[in-house]
Parts: sequence; structure tokens; C-alpha cells
Amino acid sequence: MRMSNMLIATLREVPAEAEIASHQLMLRAGLIRKMSSGIYNHLPLGVKVLKNVEEIIREEMEAKGAQELLCSAIIPAELWQESGRWDAYGAEMFRVKDRGNRDYCLGPTHEEVFTSTVKNEIKSYKQLPINLYQIQTKYRDERRPRFGVMRSREFIMKDAYSFDKDQEGLDIAFNKMHDAYVNIFNRCGLDAKCVEADSGAIGGSNSAEFMVKSEVGEDDIVFCTACDYAANIEKAEAIAEKAEEEALQEMKKVETPNSRTIEEVSEFLNVDTKKTVKTLLYNVDGKTVAVLVRGDREVNEVKVANASNATGDIELASHEQVMEATNAQTGFAGPVGIKVDLLLVDEEVKNMHNIIVGANETGYHLTGVNYGRDFEGVVGDFRNVEEGEKCPKCGGKITIAKGTEVGHIFKLGTKYSESMNAKFIDENGKEQPFIMGCYGIGVTRTVASIIEQHHDENGIIWPLEVAPYKVSVIAVNSKDEEQMKIAEEIYNNLRSLGLDVLFDDRKERAGVKFKDAELMGIPMRVVVGKKITDGEVEFRLRTSSDNEIIKIDEVEGRIRTEFEKNGLKLR
Ligand code: ATP
Ligand code: MG
Repeated sequence: MRMSNMLIATLREVPAEAEIASHQLMLRAGLIRKMSSGIYNHLPLGVKVLKNVEEIIREEMEAKGAQELLCSAIIPAELWQESGRWDAYGAEMFRVKDRGNRDYCLGPTHEEVFTSTVKNEIKSYKQLPINLYQIQTKYRDERRPRFGVMRSREFIMKDAYSFDKDQEGLDIAFNKMHDAYVNIFNRCGLDAKCVEADSGAIGGSNSAEFMVKSEVGEDDIVFCTACDYAANIEKAEAIAEKAEEEALQEMKKVETPNSRTIEEVSEFLNVDTKKTVKTLLYNVDGKTVAVLVRGDREVNEVKVANASNATGDIELASHEQVMEATNAQTGFAGPVGIKVDLLLVDEEVKNMHNIIVGANETGYHLTGVNYGRDFEGVVGDFRNVEEGEKCPKCGGKITIAKGTEVGHIFKLGTKYSESMNAKFIDENGKEQPFIMGCYGIGVTRTVASIIEQHHDENGIIWPLEVAPYKVSVIAVNSKDEEQMKIAEEIYNNLRSLGLDVLFDDRKERAGVKFKDAELMGIPMRVVVGKKITDGEVEFRLRTSSDNEIIKIDEVEGRIRTEFEKNGLKLR
């Protein structure tokens, strides 16, 4: 590409709207532009990178026998009503009507569409297994779109769906996708880790996420420092602490005026927060669910949602719901005599003695409360694991890091095939529901994550395989005919090798050209300057601050070496 013909949209200033490096650099290097909140246009340079990432994904998916198709983004409501998700999906779904007042949505994900496609096309076990995927635009009206294309309202996803006749088939499909994802993220230059994830009602080790460790990640990932255990905090199992034995006290009501929070109550009563228990009330599909965890712990809402069979996200109970359940203002809820549909008790709370809880009366708490004697509930793990706790697998020490989810692989089982009546005829002539898996990669988010892991103060540093252009050829003085001629020859020669090359033939100062090439993250640059009188040019890697002086006819070989180092081939 001749830069004199190119839409170059580089910015020198850091845009005020962007908080994180990848978002700033995608704007500054001219990859994306914002059109509306969480809605972006991809400029030519951005499209080049997207295509490269998509190509890697295609190759690795096809290597595992998956086939590409392309479904419509606009989906009739009936499909979602069949699966029961039209109502459950909630406000994140963009809904539209046609001129005949019929309901549609802009697909946030495509389980229903793929299930119905396979239901219509596949009748017999002989046509299984099958794995279909697409790379397509998804729509989600996110509550908090942010960080550019990391969490946007329109984004590109690779979604794949596997269909098998039995569980063993699904296990094989799942493992193949796991391996494909490892290869994809490796080739993208991403340091991504596969962690156990929550799989809702299905449970077990049926769901895994590929996480990129990142300061700006929105997920907490739990790692063991001694073994290979890694899980999303939503899923990570907490080991309940045993409390020391002590004589049971009598339950007493004490006045705690204006003390609502755990901190206020423990300070007022002069006790450790570890002696208190907090009672949180949730609205789960219109039902009131109370959860008890030790005062210094955090409730894990995913575990609560699973235990209460929630159909979607759960939310804290409204003030009215709290008043109804406790007969008191918010801040004084407790398990004794509370009126809720479900009372969940974290295992640690069951182990504690003589705890302090709200009295379900404004301005009062109870002391000396004990599980079994004074209240009962459903006991389980309902809290977040914390830094330094014991690993559930080996007992080692837990550490927690921030991460961004770039991919998700999930064993669905028969969730959609049952509800949508998608069946095949098995070996014995009997109808069976397809056993399904689904596998997503956020393509636009992957691009942002690559930048997050590969940049410096001067701009992006693309890993070679995803780089929009591999080499930039720069003539120092565009008025010097000889320099321009040699630069052009080098450019043409490199292009004839099938390389994506930038030729900076703009009538700009050399400094401007260097800055743009660095900002855009072009992995290699060839600078044609005064040294051509000795038959020499400068070669520099984006990752290095040293120039190599090489002969003009060594340029091709030098670039070949770099490709080989990265395990890539040139024509
Ligand atoms: P998150 O927890 O980040 O909202 P999710 O669990 O909703 O993700 P999936 O439904 O599993 O995500 O979607 C598959 C992939 O699509 C994710 O792994 C992520 O990489 C990407 N993705 C999801 N939501 C967005 C978004 N709003 N913007 C960009 N990429 C997204
Ligand atoms: Mg989401």
C-alpha cells in the first residue's frame, strides 16, 4: 500500500474518552472510530488486523473439522420463544419490529439459530458429529459499554456449535475446541490462560474461559501458586474456615442505633467483623432470597443465582422487598424470623458460634446467635474466594489476578435441543436430542487484548502474524529521486513475495513517517536514506531501538529470517 493513497487516521494526542492503552491506541493508530456509545466503525488499518485474526481462527477451526457458515444477524422472536430465552434475556437484547409489527432481535448469540438449522438439516446419527461456526456481528445492549471494542454494543464474534449423538462425542468436540483455542491465541501472540468457569445449572467442569491477564480486566481469576488450578472467581470453590470451639451463649437483642453496615455494627459493639454475619437480600425472578456470609466476606452472586435456580441475572432486593421480609429498614436484616422464599447460609457461617446478626427490627441486632439452634437454611458455598486462602485442589496458596475473557467453551448438553425439540434418529431407530456444545471467541476483543499486551509509549507492537502490514519502507527524503526509486524497488520486490508492505511515499518529514510507522505497530521498517550511495539501507525491528545497516540486496533475506523466527513462511 502506498501511504499517499491510504486513509491515514493517526492522532498525536491521547483522546480524552479513552482510559486504557488498547482503546487509546486503536483510536490513535486509526483502527477504529466511535459512532455512538459502544458502537464503533472499523477503519482500513483496523480491518486488516481483524482479517488476519479471523484468518487464524478459520485455519484452526477448519483444522479441527469445523465448517464455516454465515447466519443472519436479525432473528425472529419465535426461535427465542421456543427456547424460552425471549423474556429471560432481558435488557441486553436489541429488539426490533418489522412493518407488520412482528418481533425480531439483533442476535446477541446464536444457539437458537444453529439448533434450528441443524434440526432442519440433520435427521440421522450417521450425519453426526458436526461442528458449525461463523464469524459474525453480534449485538448486545450492554449496561456499561466501555474500553472501546473490549466491551461494545456491536462486536464481532466467532461462534461455533457442535452437535453429537452422545456425551463421549461432546467430550471429544470440547477438547478439540480447547486445543484450537490454545493455537489461535498463541498465534495471535496472546498470553491466554484456560480457567474453569461457571456453567450455571449444568454444573461440573463443563465450561472453561480463555483469560488474558490484564490490569484492566473486568474478571477476577483465581490461581493456585502451587498447582495448576485456575478458575474464574464466579466459579472458584471457597473452603469454609472452621471456627474455634466456644460455649454457646444465649441469644440477646441489643440496641444498635444508626449502625447498619458490618463496619458500623462491629465498631459499635467493639467486636471483630469476623464475629458478625451479614444478611443480603436478593430479588430472584420476583422471589426474595436471603444470603448469609461472614461479615468480612463477599457474597458470590453467581453461586447464589445457581442455588436459587435463577433464570437470569439477580439483583439486590428493593427497599419494599426488604421491608416486607424483615419488617425493618435496610441494614437490620438477620436470619432469625426472616420471611423469605429461600435462606442460603454460607458453610462458614454454619461453623461459627455466637454470631451477631440483624434483628429484623430497625435499630437492633442479635448477639449469641447459633446455626441449628436459632435458625436453619440451605448450607453451601455462597462467597468469593480471597487472596491467600487455601486452593480447593491441593491446599496451596491462592492468588487473584485481573483478566479479560477472550474465549469461552461450554458443554451445553441438551439444553437447546430439548427445548427446541431438535432430534435425530439413533442407531436403534429412536429419537434423541442432539448433545450440543458452544464455543465463542470475541474477535474484536481479541484485537484489543493483543494491543493491551503488546505496546509501548510510542504505539502498538503487532506480533508478526496479526500485523496489518509486516514492513514499512520509508524514503527519508521524498524529494530525493534516487531514494524514492530504490524505496519503490524494495517495495515492489517485497510485494512480489506476497507481503503486506507499506510504502511511505508521502511528502512528509522523515520524523513524521517514523512516528506513524511506530504508532501503527509495523513490525519491521526499512529506511532508505543517504547510505544508498554505499548500497546500504537501515533495517529496524519495532521491538528494538537499534538500526541494522544492511545491503539493499540483503533486505529480502533479513525479512525472511524474521518470518522464520516467528515460525512463518514467505512465498
Ligand atoms: P462477558 O462476561 O465479558 O460479558 P460473556 O460471558 O457475556 O462475556 P459470551 O456470551 O461467552 O461472553 O461471548 C463470547 C465472547 O464474546 C466472550 O468470550 C468475549 O470475548 C466476547 N464478548 C462478549 N461480550 C462482548 C462485548 N460486549 N464486546 C466485545 N466482546 C464481547
Ligand atoms: Mg456478557
